[in-house]
Amino acid sequence: MQPTHHQPASRNVAVIGAGAGGLVAAHELRREGHKVVVFERGDQLGGTWVYTPNVESDPIGLDPNRTRVHSSMYQSLRTNLPREAMGFRDYPFVAIEEDEERDPRRYPSHREVLMYLKDFAIEFGVSEIVRFETEVVFVGLVEGGKWKVKFKSKRGEVVQDEIFDAVVVCNGHHTEPRVAQIPGINTWKGKQIHSHNYRTPEPFRDQVVILIGSATSAIDISRDIAGVAKEVHIASRSVADETIEKQPGYNNMWLHSMIKSSHDDGSVAFQDGSVVVADIILHCTGYKYHFPFLETNGIVTVDDNRVGPLYKHVFPPALAPSLSFVGLPWKVVPFPEFELQSKWIAGLLSNRIALPSKEEMMEDIKAFYSLLEESGIPKRYTHNLGGCQFEYNDWLAALCGCPVSEEWRKKMYLEVSKNRHARPETYRDEWEDEHLVLQAHEDFKKYTLNGVTKK
Ligand SMILES: Cc1cc2nc3c(=O)[nH]c(=O)nc-3n(C[C@H](O)[C@H](O)[C@H](O)COP(=O)(O)OP(=O)(O)OC[C@H]3O[C@@H](n4cnc5c(N)ncnc54)[C@H](O)[C@@H]3O)c2cc1C
Repeated sequence: MQPTHHQPASRNVAVIGAGAGGLVAAHELRREGHKVVVFERGDQLGGTWVYTPNVESDPIGLDPNRTRVHSSMYQSLRTNLPREAMGFRDYPFVAIEEDEERDPRRYPSHREVLMYLKDFAIEFGVSEIVRFETEVVFVGLVEGGKWKVKFKSKRGEVVQDEIFDAVVVCNGHHTEPRVAQIPGINTWKGKQIHSHNYRTPEPFRDQVVILIGSATSAIDISRDIAGVAKEVHIASRSVADETIEKQPGYNNMWLHSMIKSSHDDGSVAFQDGSVVVADIILHCTGYKYHFPFLETNGIVTVDDNRVGPLYKHVFPPALAPSLSFVGLPWKVVPFPEFELQSKWIAGLLSNRIALPSKEEMMEDIKAFYSLLEESGIPKRYTHNLGGCQFEYNDWLAALCGCPVSEEWRKKMYLEVSKNRHARPETYRDEWEDEHLVLQAHEDFKKYTLNGVTKK
């Protein structure tokens, strides 16, 4: 399906997943005149923001036959981005002070984010097109460049199928755990758990815990656990080998370099030379991209967490634009980026926007991969947009004919990173970028939704 200019087309599109990515994709596709079905295996929308106390049967997530739980939220989680920056551009995430069910804080709880996503879905009529408790088990090409989607509902075990012109994959990437490789771990006698299955600190009471990782959730969880555990030892890849530091404000938490080995007497040795006899190793080591339903005859693969080849993290050139992915980049502000990716996909499917040729897209991808290699960036960082997310977003915005990211949002992101670094314990409640909050609210006045104009 090669788009031609000036022939608006309405496609039948399947969206897989009703998390933030799937919801905004469905909204943008419908806005562009496409017919959309959203498949969601859970019983409600919101994806990872649907907190559940349930955990998987294998706490470290390695058993392929384990019972599955989608969400990785823990009970105490508050957002690590301020609501002004985090929300969709067309639907600002403002506090609803007059409803006491809501959490008006700038960095609210996971429940507030879920309520916001539900509001979004209701506002734009997306809820009605979601088929809940319907798991997609197969997506594959059929004749004429169309896609067969096979799915089964939770109640009936019968697998059904439907044909679509296009498929947008929005199944999330915080569900399939990645774990650290630790020499000797097979004979180490303690318990192992991945942060995907972390909910509350109570199971860690009086335990000696080694927590691997240094991303935002690792930091949150180490603080959560330090309140009840006997000792918390954080193993981080981002510090020098000789590091061993008591963490300020805690008398039971230390920062170490990575683990060197583990032993059958329960001891764990760090590269810094220290040895700890631990009860639990908690892997806060991230997740793998996982598309068990997708059959592309080897066109799209996942290799060391690189999903590829993908043009600008969205389209495999050979299958563009009928197959696309929303939400693969990380170290980004996700919702507004999902929104722009979705506008791009929707515009391409209707022929309003055109793609470069397959060859040009492949060239672009090859050049990107070479650049990563030359810079010594490992494959698994392919989708880490780190410092260039706004450049990427603005590139998408220009293609879609919509305004680039707001200056206040860009500045706020930088301020938040600085503040988080300076005040790791209190950044969610103390900040110095109030002037940017005011600018954001000025901007939000343009939108009549989500109670903004009701105030
Ligand atoms: C612990 C944690 C904290 C985070 N904190 C923040 C934060 O503070 N701010 C922020 O902006 N972002 C945060 N994020 C990132 C968050 O993941 C994104 O903001 C966003 O919610 C991801 O949306 P998604 O739609 O891509 O994926 P998900 O929310 O994971 O949704 C995917 C959906 O697809 C469904 N699905 C999967 N497979 C199938 C299938 N085969 N058939 C049918 N349905 C299927 C799932 O059930 C799910 O509903 C956090 C993530 C985690 C894990």
